[in-house]
Amino acid sequence: MTGARPLPDGYRGLAELDAGLAIGATRGGRTIRAIAIGARGPTTLVVAGVHPIEWIGVEVARALAAALVAAPPVDRRVVIVPVLNPDGYAAVEADLRAGRRRWHRTSGPDGKSLGVDLNRNFPVAHHAAPAWWRGLPHGGAAPWSEPESRALRAVVDDPRWGPIDRAVSLHSVGRVILLPWAHTGARPPRYRELRAHADAVAARMPERYRVWQAGRFPPFRLGGLELDWLTSQGALTLLIECTGGGLALGAPATWASPFAWYNPADGAARAAPIARALEPFVRGA
Ligand SMILES: [Zn+2]
Repeated sequence: MTGARPLPDGYRGLAELDAGLAIGATRGGRTIRAIAIGARGPTTLVVAGVHPIEWIGVEVARALAAALVAAPPVDRRVVIVPVLNPDGYAAVEADLRAGRRRWHRTSGPDGKSLGVDLNRNFPVAHHAAPAWWRGLPHGGAAPWSEPESRALRAVVDDPRWGPIDRAVSLHSVGRVILLPWAHTGARPPRYRELRAHADAVAARMPERYRVWQAGRFPPFRLGGLELDWLTSQGALTLLIECTGGGLALGAPATWASPFAWYNPADGAARAAPIARALEPFVRGA
């Protein structure tokens, strides 16, 4: 690996994240893993790394896992999937190490776009893409067409961990806490309770985060999201668009760096207070 560049400060390569229980395998032959903490009770699911380039969410998941391992919950389980899409993560890592500036919304094992946006591949209001569209990001020919979405379904269906009554999906970017539904402007079940949790998380965040329902504005209604599917499974679910990213007007090098659009400098340092803000919700408070 002579000539390989170091990863940005506060971010880790996939080799350091490859620990935990196997919950699935990718087309690229990588293992999708989960970390389960706590012994009994209902379960919180935390998932990150759905979109390949959104590494700050992975760091938040790691920080949450570390805090929970240090003081495991006694009346709840927490299952954390730090990198749902390891093929995509590896493609971004290869680009960073080679100094390539590429945008990865979706990535296959060869680092090229597969066209499938994993976060449109879940079954609630799924839109099947026509064949002519499939060079662009889309939800797949059918729900669950991707091994990564099926790995998350396996976690939810696993009798060891059910019922999952809370869930957090960690994305970037925008400093927003998104509530279900995303596919309709109708309010989800237990909306007031969920809204109160989201407001409490926002109040603990290190920066100002807005809270809104994803599908409240018709032009932006989206189908096939993990947010809506987890909600349909009975989980109070929050989708966090972590941080404002790393674009800096005074740092022109960031302007042309897709990684910087989605991820702040000093990832681990920026992730820690976000994890602390989420921890009470994750622990069932
Ligand atoms: Zn995302």
